[in-house]
Amino acid sequence: MSPGRTALLLLALLPGLPLAEAQTESIQPPPVTRGPVDLERELQAPWQAGGEILLHAAADGGPRAGRRAAPPADAGGERERRAEQFALARKLNLVLQPRVVPLALPLTEDQVALLERFAHSDAGAVWFREMADDTLRLFNQGYLEYDAALWRAYLEGGPRPPLSALITGRLSEAGLFAQDAAVFRIYAYDGMGSMAAAASVRMGRKGFRCQFSMSGEAVDPFAILSHEFGHSRYGDPRSAGQPLGEARTVARYENPVRLRHGFPPRLVYYLRIEPGRLPVTRDALFTRVLAWREQPALRLADLDPVEGLYCECAEAPGALRDCLTPRPAEAGACELRWVAVRVETPRPAASE
Ligand SMILES: [Zn+2]
Repeated sequence: MSPGRTALLLLALLPGLPLAEAQTESIQPPPVTRGPVDLERELQAPWQAGGEILLHAAADGGPRAGRRAAPPADAGGERERRAEQFALARKLNLVLQPRVVPLALPLTEDQVALLERFAHSDAGAVWFREMADDTLRLFNQGYLEYDAALWRAYLEGGPRPPLSALITGRLSEAGLFAQDAAVFRIYAYDGMGSMAAAASVRMGRKGFRCQFSMSGEAVDPFAILSHEFGHSRYGDPRSAGQPLGEARTVARYENPVRLRHGFPPRLVYYLRIEPGRLPVTRDALFTRVLAWREQPALRLADLDPVEGLYCECAEAPGALRDCLTPRPAEAGACELRWVAVRVETPRPAASE
């Protein structure tokens, strides 16, 4: 018997220290690094929430979090896992008070309810699993404050608390000073729609539109949330605001959810160009598109998969026209307002 194992056995013999559980249950720590979510594959898997999150005592008696390797026994077990992931997010990631994040508005009750329903959907369970894995990593690094009395009660023979009950939702002192403790946040802003960055998803307090403004396609709120998570560090954080990146995000992270909910896939993504604020980009296609005026021979055929450039011109404010069709010489200046990009759609199943 190795000295390490002897030490573990000795610890296990200490009164009340429930080490044996951790030895027999095969609780795995979360993966060390994140990989981009492959949503199509995840949605084809039987379960989405990942292993049950369980606390166990480390050799020093301190709490560690991991996941049970075994799949859930049934749909009820999966529902419990999704509920715990949402409870963790509610404690740590959802901004519910002002001033937690500078300039962030707290989520409204309706937004929290929508997020809870999303967390219980198949796609939402995948994204909340990624957030939960971050929480497990932060916790095991000692960056999250927890209820020491509750943990002591467990070591003294009390019930094992869920991680969502043990953490307070605040960073520990170590976490406050750690450079690598970047908590993912979901919060609100004043406006419509939603946005994302590498470490946040933001939801407009005025809600979602029912239809996309240019294409008229119906909006599926869960598919939109999945799209935003696709722009975050759990998907491809460089995809936001780029014609190709957005079209790929619709294809990889939004359309699979739409299809499962009975919505037709989105075929075209319309990227809005804010008046007077040309985006800064290193993307070759986007650079060409933005310089449309300086390239007299620019043809749509050379800009695949761009389907159209829509301009607002001085002679007809508020109306949109094709930027690349020749106009009367006396016409005023035109500004690019929208770039339409085709979305790659799944190939139809082979016919018999
Ligand atoms: Zn987007």
